[in-house]
Amino acid sequence: MKILVPVKRVIDYNVKVRVKSDGTGVDIANVKMSMNPFDEIALEEAMRLKEAGKATEIVAVSAGVTQCQETLRTGMAIGADRGVLIETTAELEPLAVAKLLKALADREQPQLIILGKQAIDDDSNQTGQMLGALLGWPQATFASKVVLEDGKVTVTREVDGGLETLSLSLPAIVTTDLRLNEPRYVTLPNIMKAKKKPLETIKPEDLGVDVTPRLKTLKVAEPAKRSAGVMVPDVATLVSKLRTEAKVI
Ligand code: AMP
Repeated sequence: MKILVPVKRVIDYNVKVRVKSDGTGVDIANVKMSMNPFDEIALEEAMRLKEAGKATEIVAVSAGVTQCQETLRTGMAIGADRGVLIETTAELEPLAVAKLLKALADREQPQLIILGKQAIDDDSNQTGQMLGALLGWPQATFASKVVLEDGKVTVTREVDGGLETLSLSLPAIVTTDLRLNEPRYVTLPNIMKAKKKPLETIKPEDLGVDVTPRLKTLKVAEPAKRSAGVMVPDVATLVSKLRTEAKVI
């Protein structure tokens, strides 16, 4: 069974993101880039399924600029068997990525696609859902547990009221939540091995997909600075301030 894992190259989660002075976007020049953390979780889950003998091949795919190759090499160091780069310099929106992944899924015929629940750069949380719709496959988002058995996947999801369990027939789409697993560290021998794994580069045109943006970014701005808080001497003062100043009680 083949598992496809889309991995996105994003600004590293430790970096403090800065907005460009002209307000056209965020500054990524000389900024450390890494694999989207939820995609590491997706790869880790795919690896666990492979190690348990339930999957035979893991294919990592990334859409974006040439440097996404590094993200794919990291994916292969975690354990993916091969990588596919869909190379483009276009600004990719979730719908465009979903269309690319749909075309690739048509070609690769995976039984399972595990995506991150969201990319930490745009926080869209859309690609997995759109891909499910385009493929017409069942989807389980925000997975905190995945069990693959008897031609179906059982997924426990974190929802507002607690945990929900869904059973999906294959092929299916799963998106990962933070608590699904703890990704392994990438070891040096595996980084060396990853360099020899196959990495194919294709273009959106090869998949017959038009990735022209449909959205126009009008402006990107820093959030307003929070004003300083005040220390109150006791609970009575706090309650009084909440009542008279904040007027929340
Ligand atoms: P988003 O809908 O942008 O929050 O992204 C959700 C998930 O879709 C990510 O965690 C990735 O698994 C996948 N994804 C989004 N953009 C890309 C991309 N450019 N290349 C590969 N996978 C992507």
